[in-house]
Amino acid sequence: MSADLNGVDTVLLDVDGTLVDSNYWHTIAWQLAFAGIGEPQSAWRLHDRIGMGGDRLVAAVAGDRVEQEHGDELRKAWKDRYDDLLDHVQPLPGAADLIRELKRRGLAVALASSGRPDHLEHARARLGVDDCLDAVTTGDDVDSSKPAGDIFALALERAGGDSALVVGDSPWDVEAGHKLPAPVITLRSGGFGESRLREAGASEVFDDPADLLAGLERLLRRR
Ligand SMILES: [Mg+2]
Repeated sequence: MSADLNGVDTVLLDVDGTLVDSNYWHTIAWQLAFAGIGEPQSAWRLHDRIGMGGDRLVAAVAGDRVEQEHGDELRKAWKDRYDDLLDHVQPLPGAADLIRELKRRGLAVALASSGRPDHLEHARARLGVDDCLDAVTTGDDVDSSKPAGDIFALALERAGGDSALVVGDSPWDVEAGHKLPAPVITLRSGGFGESRLREAGASEVFDDPADLLAGLERLLRRR
């Protein structure tokens, strides 16, 4: 889908890997969780699935048997390990400035995370842009996590918008955004390569929020 921004009134931003530099910490937390139950997984395999909901990740990485036998235990261990690492998780360069600039340009802004509410709280505290947010979602708000489109649809509805642009970092954001349907701009800051993101259907690929902010004028001129 091309980045046709005509009529876009709302920007839906993924959080992990898009606004905060958390994907590799999530990878490590999952790796420690899997090792703890004697089902070790390589970091690259885990990272490859970061960004889909935690309810889907276990089966996607380790298969249905591990999900059935250890799914809840693994998610609890991942949460505990990630909580231990939380102090290391910082905003990506330009994240807060990007949100302020989108708002200044008259767009509604929503954080469309499918992560845990307490992890989103942490990200919001670090970003310090609550005054610019029209809506927020977490994984608790929907039954079906990314790559289902439910989170983005709910975020758009809560923001009171009609037409969205999605900004994310993973192939799952692209898939979920297209279900709205909305154009999806992706950032490499979550660790997914440009070719993978373009293959998924991303209309534009930037390095990180600061890079997108620098390119915003060119993008919005097309409106
Ligand atoms: Mg993400």
